[in-house]
Amino acid sequence: MKKGLLIILSGPSGAGKGSVLAEVKKRYDNLAVSVSVTTRQPRAGEIDGVHYHFKTVDEFIELGRQDAFLENECNYGNYYGTLKSEVIDNLNRGKDVVLEIDVKGAFNVLGKYPDAVSIFVCPSSMDVLKERLKGRGSETAEALRVRLTSAIGEIKQATRYGYVVVNNDIQESAEDVVSIIKAEKCSAKINREFIENLANGGNAL
Ligand code: 5GP
Repeated sequence: MKKGLLIILSGPSGAGKGSVLAEVKKRYDNLAVSVSVTTRQPRAGEIDGVHYHFKTVDEFIELGRQDAFLENECNYGNYYGTLKSEVIDNLNRGKDVVLEIDVKGAFNVLGKYPDAVSIFVCPSSMDVLKERLKGRGSETAEALRVRLTSAIGEIKQATRYGYVVVNNDIQESAEDVVSIIKAEKCSAKINREFIENLANGGNAL
């Protein structure tokens, strides 16, 4: 069985990654979205086990002790981590898996999975980003300042990704992401093992 593709989706908070991903899911079936663990408080409307696995710091540390994480980071004073159990089995079953993670986490994962596809979603301008963050209503003035500063730091890393999607329009961005996934699934590097088996196998001659 051909393994699934590991897809990393990053971008500053407020760039619209979550909305784009929701549209990608509607357009592309063979996709498992990894649900991360976090110690931050749920925002209005966020559901445990759907948007995140919400844990206490002690629970998070225990998961780390059990070697349950593919990667984990501290962001804005909270811990975030990708569970191996959300990723490895799905890839082995041929499912493509999306990780919605920050830049540090992305490079950590790329070190372990060099064939992973990395996509950076960014806003068309910093003003747009500021308005989106304010619109969330959950941000204090200080939190907003911290997130904008951090956004600039993340955007500086965007050219290290395989792809950049400027999110002017959620539908168009989702189509771009699906096109990237489909193209990557046809790439020679992803099909290396399949081609070797094809060339070696059978009684064709
Ligand atoms: P938020 O609190 O806005 O949901 O997420 C804050 C940042 O943490 C975002 O950049 C998000 O992509 C990132 N993030 C979410 N889950 C993970 C994870 O499992 N690992 C890492 N490294 N970053 C994550």
